Amino acid sequence: MKNLRDFTYEDLQREVAEYGEKPYRATQLFSWIYQKRAADIDSMTDISKVFREMLKENCYVGADTVLDVKEASDGTKKFLSELSDGSRIESVLIPESDRLTLCVSSQAGCALGCKFCMTGMTGFTRNLNLSELTNQVFSAFTLLQEGEHITNIVLMGMGEPLNNFDNVVRFAKILTDGKGFGFSHNKVTLSTAGLVPGIRRLGAESNINLAVSLNATTDEVRDRLMPINKKYPLEELMEALRDYPLQGKKHITIEYVVIKNVNDTIEDARRLLYLLRGLPCKVNLIPFNPFPGARFQAPDAHKVMVMSKILKDGGYTVMVRSSKGSEIQAACGQLRGWHEGA
Ligand code: SAH
Ligand code: SF4
Repeated sequence: MKNLRDFTYEDLQREVAEYGEKPYRATQLFSWIYQKRAADIDSMTDISKVFREMLKENCYVGADTVLDVKEASDGTKKFLSELSDGSRIESVLIPESDRLTLCVSSQAGCALGCKFCMTGMTGFTRNLNLSELTNQVFSAFTLLQEGEHITNIVLMGMGEPLNNFDNVVRFAKILTDGKGFGFSHNKVTLSTAGLVPGIRRLGAESNINLAVSLNATTDEVRDRLMPINKKYPLEELMEALRDYPLQGKKHITIEYVVIKNVNDTIEDARRLLYLLRGLPCKVNLIPFNPFPGARFQAPDAHKVMVMSKILKDGGYTVMVRSSKGSEIQAACGQLRGWHEGA
């Protein structure tokens, strides 16, 4: 049996053709799935009963089970979903003054093993398929209050999205399709640890926003924090970022997790300015979020402020990302199935 939430528009076109149905059936189905959020095939009432019965022989509409929801005092909600094979993933709804962002996981676990990241420390299980990506959006809809709308989607949850490239690009297409979820491509952001070939491919195949977790200003420190840097060192990464097609108005987001006594100095801020020269970007400074067993510490607030000032004086827009939902460990890098003891 096939989950209709695993189908892109093109897949649906192929599927309806196999049944000898007219192409407009694909448009109808697509709209039932993503816009009207049909929970089953029977509720797709403008599709003939005969075709619905045929479809039901091979296809269904499948959600993933939300096992648990935790809400922090700032309104951040983290939810845990169980997938068909029992794997567990987390997603986070983050309310801010003028937006409501859904942070989506792209993999169960992550193979890249960054030393400051709880997901990275717990290893890799598998890539998520398309329905497991879209189901995080459907599940989030069920958690919204009256009048609330998701305004932004970020692929910044568990996993390295560019290591699940095909499904993530298919997901981005559905998110930004007017007949799909209908988000503007400016409202969808993918965050990567810096997989250079994936960044180049993404630039060619998608027009969503790019965020890159830089996190260090020298190869020596970055090698230590993020093993992927040995494969794609800073110079190669920065070159790929400079080549990334920005389509006019957009910039790249540079994420920088500030870790006490590791990458928090005035020299780091100056080196960062040098690395970023000429790159249209804004910088998010993310104070490291400690977790049980972490071998690093949160930075001193004033050091983060000093770095922020140097970058601002250098002409960049800088955001210090507050630790949203940190008491429910919903902050960046704190995601892993909490039933597994997190
Ligand atoms: N794999 C992708 C996306 C998921 S990680 C990537 O690395 O970009 C999302 C963000 O969380 C990254 O910017 C990462 O640097 C940050 N992060 C990971 N662990 C963290 C921690 N303990 N404290 C603060 N930020 C963390
Ligand atoms: Fe994976 Fe991103 Fe965590 Fe690194 S920071 S281990 S790439 S999820």
